[in-house]
Amino acid sequence: MSALKLTADRKVSPLSLWKVNARRWEPDVKNAFGLPAGTSCPGRTSICASVCYAEAAENWPTVDALVRHNWDLLQDCGRSQSKMVNLLRPLMTAYRQSHARAERLRNVTIPHVFRIHWDGDFFSIPYARAWRTIMLENADIQFWVYTRSFHGRVDVVPTLSIVPNLSLYLSVDSENRQHAERYPNLPHAILDETFAEAQVTSVSLSGKRAPRCPENARKVPLVGSDGRGACVACGLCVNGRSSVLFSITKS
Ligand code: SF4
Repeated sequence: MSALKLTADRKVSPLSLWKVNARRWEPDVKNAFGLPAGTSCPGRTSICASVCYAEAAENWPTVDALVRHNWDLLQDCGRSQSKMVNLLRPLMTAYRQSHARAERLRNVTIPHVFRIHWDGDFFSIPYARAWRTIMLENADIQFWVYTRSFHGRVDVVPTLSIVPNLSLYLSVDSENRQHAERYPNLPHAILDETFAEAQVTSVSLSGKRAPRCPENARKVPLVGSDGRGACVACGLCVNGRSSVLFSITKS
């Protein structure tokens, strides 16, 4: 049987290496998973569609082929949760092998962190339940995910908010914020034109101010000089410490 494929994502990888000839960081640990943007996103808004950085990455033929490969395999499962679990288990084995290899070769200890959906979203409840099974089986791994699948045909909150090793963020913009009001106690990832406008939404949803994403605000690089991706160094979303603000204009 063909296997789901991981993505090497510099922003979320706990260790990247500087490739002198290519003059770029390359992840040494593959710890991200993606699906096609839009196709897999039942909660897509026109705002996120207009600025989706992940969809832009699909302009690279290799990226497009990878996420479509993952999508096709999961679609072949129909609505069978157990078939999807059987696809996701080898994915986590591949992640663990990538992690263990990097620790052995570099002689370092690397945190077990995994980003679900650097691209795409939860497209069905059986698929979300399959991920819940996988996360509960891998209790030593800290997972994090942002989703717009929290209202309408696919609402994954009841399925996923009970997973202890998952930081579940509701991705909020002006088109779907009224639906997020149903879940004021979950952290929100709020996108607006400016950080100030996103802050207004944060206060209205939860009564609390939220910090800016430092990478989005250009306060930290995508990869630090120690090879850690911005999200691993920052840790805010990885550990679900609070809601977070994102600005389309980065201002
Ligand atoms: S706030 Fe931190 S963890 Fe969240 S997306 Fe930004 S850099 Fe990553």
